[in-house]
Amino acid sequence: MSFMVKTKLLATHFPIQDFFGRELGLVKAVDGVNITITEGSTFGIVGESGCGKTTLARTILGLEKSTSGSTILGSEMSEGTEETNIEELDRAGLRELRRMIGVVFQDPMGALNPRMLVKDLICEPMVIHNQKEGMRERAKELLKMVGLNPDHLYRYPHQFSGGQRQRIVIARALALEPKMLILDEPTSALDVSVQSQILNLLKDLQKKMGLTYVFISHDLSVIRHMCDRVAVMYLGKIVEESEAETLFSNPLHPYTQALVSAIPSLDPKMRRERIVLEGDVPSPADPPSGCHFHPRCPIAEANCSQVYPDLREIKKGCHTACHLVK
Ligand code: SF4
Repeated sequence: MSFMVKTKLLATHFPIQDFFGRELGLVKAVDGVNITITEGSTFGIVGESGCGKTTLARTILGLEKSTSGSTILGSEMSEGTEETNIEELDRAGLRELRRMIGVVFQDPMGALNPRMLVKDLICEPMVIHNQKEGMRERAKELLKMVGLNPDHLYRYPHQFSGGQRQRIVIARALALEPKMLILDEPTSALDVSVQSQILNLLKDLQKKMGLTYVFISHDLSVIRHMCDRVAVMYLGKIVEESEAETLFSNPLHPYTQALVSAIPSLDPKMRRERIVLEGDVPSPADPPSGCHFHPRCPIAEANCSQVYPDLREIKKGCHTACHLVK
């Protein structure tokens, strides 16, 4: 299957400056990430808050400039031309990239201007990208696709429930017929009953439109339900990456094991002994030496604080960064 987006040793660092603009250090939000997102699949990125998930997505989208490494668009995303490095795109190329990749953020109220009618919110991307012809009809069609009534075009965001607002955000993200959607915690702000409706809607849309998803969440139950392949991030690096089922049935990295052990399950056979991690995620501005996870790792050894373990293939398609995993 062809790939849509591939990153090679992608890094996004932010300088920490004092009042006079002198550089005091670096926040390594994304640090040497290699991922491949294949066409029509859902690629999950999971990790605690501050691990770099959103910065990775923003860098793929060209909203953050990478410090080093590259993001390569596959031929599907480059209008049939050869693979393209997004660092080499000009303004027009970046504009086209944003047409091809839609984004859905966590907070639908924050994403929708409360002073605009739904019709204007959904038509806005079409106006910006000069696709005004038939846009009112398209807006109605989009509302139907996300399970809302075309009459809702003439209402304001505050007249909807949280779930309906997220449906409007999804309709807006689909306005330009993107090939890929970045879903950044799309259900975290919603009630549990509404969450499942939105997740099912996303699955239906993917099937109908052949979309590729990058699904970012801290909720492993949601990731398991939605994703084909999953990358686990810790302090800007990927510590484990594999097929979703493999990752959940046999997590290899101690951090992934702790995350998976916290998933609640009604099936007693599926329950694991809960691994409680000590302490908080360290600051990415001052990560621990060696393996960044060593201060919290329940099985850390002396040399874990000396050497950073590279991501290695342990078995076919399953990569882990821990030198104790054989
Ligand atoms: Fe734990 Fe050491 Fe493996 Fe890091 S390298 S995850 S500290 S055992």
